[in-house]
Amino acid sequence: MVVEMFPPYPPELSPTQLSYLLQALTDYSLSHGLTVRPAESFIPDKLSSNGAFATHAPITLFPSPFPRSCWEEGRAVQKDFNELYARVAGNEEWLEKTMVELSKVDDFTERLYKVHLDVKAEGFVQPLSLGLFRSDYILHNIAPEDPKVLPVIHQVEFNTIASSFGALSTRVSELHRHLARVGAYPPDSIIKAENIPVSPALQELAKGLAVAYKAYGSGGDGRSTAVLMIIQPGDKNIFDQRWLEYELLEKHSVQTYRISLTDVPKLTDLAPGTRALIYSPPHVPNTQIEISTVYFRAGYGPGDYAGEDEWTARTTLERSKAIKCPSVITQLAGAKKIQQVLAIDGVVEGFLADKSVSSRVRGTFAAIHPLDESPAGVAARKLALEKPDTYVLKPQREGGGNNIYRGDIPGFLKSIPESRWSGYILMELIEPPALENTIIRNGGLMSGGVIGELGVYGAILWKDGEGEERGKGLKEIVMNEEAGWLLRTKGKQSDEGGVAAGFGSVDAVLLVD
Ligand code: ADP
Ligand code: MG
Repeated sequence: MVVEMFPPYPPELSPTQLSYLLQALTDYSLSHGLTVRPAESFIPDKLSSNGAFATHAPITLFPSPFPRSCWEEGRAVQKDFNELYARVAGNEEWLEKTMVELSKVDDFTERLYKVHLDVKAEGFVQPLSLGLFRSDYILHNIAPEDPKVLPVIHQVEFNTIASSFGALSTRVSELHRHLARVGAYPPDSIIKAENIPVSPALQELAKGLAVAYKAYGSGGDGRSTAVLMIIQPGDKNIFDQRWLEYELLEKHSVQTYRISLTDVPKLTDLAPGTRALIYSPPHVPNTQIEISTVYFRAGYGPGDYAGEDEWTARTTLERSKAIKCPSVITQLAGAKKIQQVLAIDGVVEGFLADKSVSSRVRGTFAAIHPLDESPAGVAARKLALEKPDTYVLKPQREGGGNNIYRGDIPGFLKSIPESRWSGYILMELIEPPALENTIIRNGGLMSGGVIGELGVYGAILWKDGEGEERGKGLKEIVMNEEAGWLLRTKGKQSDEGGVAAGFGSVDAVLLVD
């Protein structure tokens, strides 16, 4: 029996209604910068002189119904999650054991952790750290047979680096709200503008960067200061980043420069003594800009480190006086392995003293198991090999497309040495209520069953201990904010939901009670 939690959805459209909706959606999206550069496979770069072509981001035709209480819960718990991960990043003694173990089985983690340890040995010169985080959730049916029982949110993962789609989440919620207001949806449908809240992620994430920029203070030797965004050359999701730059400049008078890791050694230097990060923009000869904040929209995966230049770049940035968003240790705190360790009884409780806070955080956890040689790991290995159908296997990677699902798990595990299994975690698949929508990508429509993933952004600026005190626990939280939300929607048949990776779309919540 299929039990419907949501009212029949989406509404049926006549051919005339559909054509009106598509026109309104496309024109609004293109005129409001809800855009991406087309994939190379769709429009080859060589046909798009100077990157002249853009298309709207993959989006849903309709906002997706989402229980208001679940949306409120995700937002309410965000500041607690910000604090939790800041405290984890600030507690190196606690992190050390996991990082040492992971380093044995995962080369990328090993290399990143080495960058951290090298800089630590020299001594950090910046006590402030910025986190622009995103906690991702899928609705989980707790009583699949009873549509009156609302689902709960279960956390998929917590992102501590390069949390993307903030600006596009603002634009897509504005789009769906606009479409409701102009009557592009059937008037007798449940889609009402007042139930489509606009996500303030664009404004809030820029504000987070601006607070860090201010906290840095003025540059040395009369230098002006700026934000440096570390980017992947040719990133198709560039407008999501550009919007942040425009917001920073227009609302906060903060200039942003963009640079790849590869170019860092060529275009930056550390000032002797202070280790201020000095950037020389190639288009403004003889200018020295002091970088207050390094904002990473790259550097989260091995693909961003083609060679030693990129590792040197990462080390230089980490050594610098600039505030990092995130620092290497904060990036490492976002490892999937750490998510699994935090889920062990009593661990979150050790970081968040207030019981009501830690139990709210824990309430969002799905079952996650280690695959190491501990008793829990041995039990999970048996599950993974013998009953994999309700599990996903995850390596320590970010950015989509890395997980192994269900029946593929045993074969995959057998294909790698058993000694590397502990670099993976085994997570229960979250089962959301049935829902349908239509995704529009490159002008083509795909209708059918979908799965939504709510991301809630957070902005937190904190101070670590200085000198010997560094790494022995966070000293002070300077700012801690919930920073808007994102809904990503993918076809039900697709295991992965990455929008940029080609699996999903950006969507807005249609709150239902
Ligand atoms: P990444 O760092 O690559 O984004 P995620 O943990 O977010 O890794 O997994 C990628 C995608 O896989 C998610 O966006 C989601 O669609 C799906 N996924 C991951 N974990 C689960 C889970 N426990 N239940 C259901 N789907 C999941
Ligand atoms: Mg993810």
